[in-house]
Amino acid sequence: MTTPRIRTRFAPSPTGDLHIGSARSALYPYLWAKHNQGDFLLRIEDTDQSRTQEGSLESITDGLKWLGLEWDEGPEVGGDFGPYFQSERLELYKTYAQKLLDTKHAYYCFCTKDRLDQMRLDQQANKQAPRYDKTCRRLSAEAIQKELDSNTSHVIRLAVPEEGSVVVEDLLRGTVSFEAKDVDDQVIMKSDGFPTYHLANVVDDHHMEITHVIRGEEWLPSLPKHVLLYQAFGWEQPVFVHLSLFLAKEGGKVSKRKGAMGIFAFRDQGYLKEAILNFCAMLGWNPKTGQEIFSIEELIAAFELKHINIPNPLFETDKLNWLNQQYLKQLPLSDILRRIEELAKVAKEAQPYQDFLAWFTAFEPKRQESIWEALRERISTLLEATETVNWLKSPSYQAGDLVWKKSTKDAALQALLAAKEQFVSLPEDQYLRSSLEPTIIDWIKTTEWGNGDILWPVRYALTGQQKSPSPFEMAELLGKNETISRLETAIKMLSE
Ligand code: GLU
Repeated sequence: MTTPRIRTRFAPSPTGDLHIGSARSALYPYLWAKHNQGDFLLRIEDTDQSRTQEGSLESITDGLKWLGLEWDEGPEVGGDFGPYFQSERLELYKTYAQKLLDTKHAYYCFCTKDRLDQMRLDQQANKQAPRYDKTCRRLSAEAIQKELDSNTSHVIRLAVPEEGSVVVEDLLRGTVSFEAKDVDDQVIMKSDGFPTYHLANVVDDHHMEITHVIRGEEWLPSLPKHVLLYQAFGWEQPVFVHLSLFLAKEGGKVSKRKGAMGIFAFRDQGYLKEAILNFCAMLGWNPKTGQEIFSIEELIAAFELKHINIPNPLFETDKLNWLNQQYLKQLPLSDILRRIEELAKVAKEAQPYQDFLAWFTAFEPKRQESIWEALRERISTLLEATETVNWLKSPSYQAGDLVWKKSTKDAALQALLAAKEQFVSLPEDQYLRSSLEPTIIDWIKTTEWGNGDILWPVRYALTGQQKSPSPFEMAELLGKNETISRLETAIKMLSE
C-alpha cells in the first residue's frame, strides 16, 4: 500500500482578524505538511453569511503572507481541488445532502423558528441540554411531500442514531466515546440553501483529500457528528488532531472574541514574525530537546504531531518578549532597519517609527551600529526602540534627580564638575565604552568619592532616566561634544 501524500488545511471563517490563536491553527498544519513534503491548503469557510466580516479575508491572507505561511492551494493561487471558497461549492453540498436524505441519514425539518425558540426555553426551564426534539424525524413520507409541495421553509437535519455510542479517534487523546443520545440532530443544510459548517467541512476535507485535520479543541464536541457523516458516506476518515486552547496567564481563555490581539497588532508593536512563529509553535508543542529558539526551517524539521501537548498552554507575554529580544539581537542592523521602514509605512501608529528613522539614519553607519548595539540590550520590541529615542535625543529631568541617594545637590554639583574635567581631558577617539570605563573608574579610586557619587549624576545628566545604559555606553553613543554639553547643562541646573 502506498502512503498517501500528506495534505493539511487551515480553514478559517472570515469572521474577524487573523489573531494569534488562528495563526497557531495555521502554523501546525503548515509545519506538518512541510515536514512531510506535502501540501498545505487554505480554505475559506464562508457559509455563514451573517457572520462574514468585511476585510476579514484580507486580514487572514495578508496575515498568513506576512508570517510566511504561504499556502500551496487556495485563494489567489488556485489548485486542482478548488474552488477554495465554500460559498462557491454550494451545488456539491446540495448533492451530498440529497444523498443523506436518500439513505435516511438525514431528514427534512419544517419546524418554525418560534417553535424551536419555545422548545429551547422549555428545555432551559427543565435544566435539559438544548436539543431538537426530533418531531420532524417522525413525519410520514406524505406529510413531508405535502410540506415540500407547498414550499414550506425547511432545513435538513442529520439523523443521529438514537442509541449506542459514537466512537471517535483523536491522535492526541486516543479513542473518545460519545453517547449517541447526547448528540443533537444537527442542522446540516439551512433554509437559505447554505450548508452548515459540519456538512461543508466533511465534504470538503474528503474532496480535497485532506489527510490530517488539525484544529482547535473547540471542535472536538462536533467530531461525533463529523464521524457519523463520514460513516454515512462510506468515506475514510482523516487523522484528527485537536489543539488545546491556550489560556491567559491571568486565567481564563484567550480567544478571538475575548479581544486577543490580531497578528498585525503584534507586528505594529514591533514583534518580529520569526518571534511570533516561534512563540506560536511553542504554544502547545514541545520539541523534547530543550531547544527554545527555532527558525521556521528548524520547526519544519523538528515538528511532530505526537509531541503536541494536551494540557492547555499558557499565553505568556514575557516569553514572547524574550523570544523577540533574541531575534532582535540575532538580526543584522540592515535587516532591522528594513523592518522599521516597513512599520513606518504600514503600522497603524507609524509616527514613532518614522521619527526613529529620521533620527537614527542621520548618524554615520558606524555610530548607528554602536547605538543599535546598546539599544537592543534593553528592548524587547521595535516600538520600545523608538521610545528610547526621546531621551537619547534630549533628556528631560529635574535637578533633584541628579542627586545620588542621601547625597546633596552641592555634592552632586562638585562630582559633576570633577567628572566633566575628566571627560574633557579624554580625546574624542577614546570615547569608547572600553576605554572610558577603566579610565573613569580608576580616577574615582583616587578621589574620596564612591562610584555611585560620580556615576549616578553623570548617567542621569546623559540620559534623564532611572534605568538606562551605563554612563560609559551613553558617552560612546553620544560622542564627546554631546556628552560634555549634557554634563554642562546638568551643572548649570545644579548651580541655579
Ligand atoms: N471554519 C472553522 C473555524 O473557523 C474551521 C474549523 C476546522 O478547522 O475544521 O474555526
